[in-house]
Amino acid sequence: MIDIAIIGAGPAGLTASIYGARAGLKTVVFEKNFSGGQMVVTSGIENFPGFIDISGSDLALKMDEQARKLGVEFVNSEISNIDKKETHFVLETSKGVYEAKNVIVAMGASPRKLGLESEKRLTGSGVSYCATCDGAFYKGATVAVVGGGNTALEDAEYLSRICNKVYIIHRRDEFRADKVLQDRVLSLSNVETVTNCVTEDILGKFEVEKIKVKNVKTEETKDIDVTGVFVAVGTIPNSKLVSSLVETDESGYIKTDSQMRTSVPGIYAVGDIRNTSLRQVITACSDGAIAVHTIVTKQ
Ligand SMILES: Cc1cc2nc3c(=O)[nH]c(=O)nc-3n(C[C@H](O)[C@H](O)[C@H](O)COP(=O)(O)OP(=O)(O)OC[C@H]3O[C@@H](n4cnc5c(N)ncnc54)[C@H](O)[C@@H]3O)c2cc1C
Repeated sequence: MIDIAIIGAGPAGLTASIYGARAGLKTVVFEKNFSGGQMVVTSGIENFPGFIDISGSDLALKMDEQARKLGVEFVNSEISNIDKKETHFVLETSKGVYEAKNVIVAMGASPRKLGLESEKRLTGSGVSYCATCDGAFYKGATVAVVGGGNTALEDAEYLSRICNKVYIIHRRDEFRADKVLQDRVLSLSNVETVTNCVTEDILGKFEVEKIKVKNVKTEETKDIDVTGVFVAVGTIPNSKLVSSLVETDESGYIKTDSQMRTSVPGIYAVGDIRNTSLRQVITACSDGAIAVHTIVTKQ
């Protein structure tokens, strides 16, 4: 019987595993791909305290190494089903069935994509899904933010302090973002809105050079010179596995309290998969630590 089964070896799951092992509990991490989660696709992380500049994969490697050194067990397999029994949970994988007293769900979230071939090709070469993470690489540049919600406007505001010019490309003429945020961001002198426009293409052979937009009313297209495109059209939580078990919000993020407890006793949710205001490595790690503390102290 596993004391803590952790699904997902991103920073949230790895941190939870470190705390679990140090508490002397049998801790097993289930990961379908490789340790690190989204960190692995992050070229440079500049905002994780203690590391002035580290690649995402190096930070992932360090967390993985630390967990293994402390005795955490890893199972390289996808969890395909969780069954709630009276006193424990049954986890199904292609490598067999496991039983656990507690389950920490740390499956992360994936940025919603525009669905363009060029977007895929230029991700990491000008196309980004995280302004807080990658904005600093665009000092003095002209960039575009695609989206019209709070994240898009917050990204535009953040980028306006770093970049020379920020275009906000939005498919409607009205923004979904909070009014107070709109008032603040849309009045900034270096922010320009391009409304009623969808992104047709992102141009550039090796790096982003232009964004091609199409006006949905006039059908006219135009190219705008930018070196960065920040896609902020929402994220998709990887919560399908547990969505019929635990309570989620309207977007599928798992609802937790401040102790990371979900609506089901014994299931905890940590990191990008839960409804939280900031989705970063540091907050994912913090969530992982809190969840295990809750388990250990039986709160
Ligand atoms: C391009 C990019 C750049 C970023 N840059 C930064 C930055 O500079 N600084 C910063 O702080 N944050 C950054 N972030 C955000 C940060 O990476 C995330 O907030 C963080 O990784 C979330 O951690 P997590 O552990 O919750 O989930 P994730 O990192 O998403 O990890 C979830 C893990 O769960 C696994 N998994 C999912 N389903 C299953 C299943 N059924 N069974 C087994 N395993 C499963 C996945 O394979 C994955 O490994 C960036 C994100 C992106 C995409």
